[in-house]
Amino acid sequence: MTSETRQAVLDAIAAEVRVCERCRLSAARTNAVPGEGSPDTEVVFVGEGPGQNEDRSGRPFVGAAGALLEELLRMIGWSREEVFITNVVKCRPPNNRDPEPDEIAACAPYLQRQLQALDPALLVTLGRFSLQTFMPGDRISRVHGTERPIDPATGARAAVGYAMYHPAAALRQGALKETMQRDMAAVPEILIRARARRGSADAAETTTQPTNPPTMPAGEAGVAPEDDPMTHPDDQIGLF
Ligand code: URA
Ligand code: SF4
Repeated sequence: MTSETRQAVLDAIAAEVRVCERCRLSAARTNAVPGEGSPDTEVVFVGEGPGQNEDRSGRPFVGAAGALLEELLRMIGWSREEVFITNVVKCRPPNNRDPEPDEIAACAPYLQRQLQALDPALLVTLGRFSLQTFMPGDRISRVHGTERPIDPATGARAAVGYAMYHPAAALRQGALKETMQRDMAAVPEILIRARARRGSADAAETTTQPTNPPTMPAGEAGVAPEDDPMTHPDDQIGLF
């Protein structure tokens, strides 16, 4: 896909999202928040769902959590325009409640299509809902700062997943900020490894390429774990 084609596909998805009524979150939203960034990026960040500022502006991560995310990106010399930033659900859950499994499942095809278009090498999950979508069954307090291949059924054909806390968690619990800085500092190196893995996946695919893109299993996207940075304090595994 050329850059122009990718942008056109992303624009088409965004247009659908803005008028979507597939789940109850459409009722209370001001604006849906499809996500934004470079169509040519190798790196996608996936958060949980829009908050109040995002709902007002229609753009992801523009409030306090977004400011922290931008600060963390700056630390490694990156900007938000160079990556793609989106969320598991595209509409704000009322009063910032957690998204519900059926809402996550209803919204999953949009994220899947965005990932098919972007075909990232590295997918960074922000927070537990994103973690559960891409690396089900793991606790964020245990796996933050670690990477693993993600299921191509998510739409990301040959990506490495890398788990980070949600920036909002670091705003609530100051000690997590340092953890997030440490985890972010490893991202450029993870990307280099992700590229290498992708190169070998591409070579293997020349013989075993599927003719149709796989679809995301609706059930799996909706699993929400019993994990919370407030109840599972950072255990300072510090793999890097
Ligand atoms: N939190 C999220 O998970 N996503 C946003 O876009 C903003 C805050
Ligand atoms: Fe549609 Fe997703 Fe918004 Fe639900 S959260 S209305 S599925 S765009």
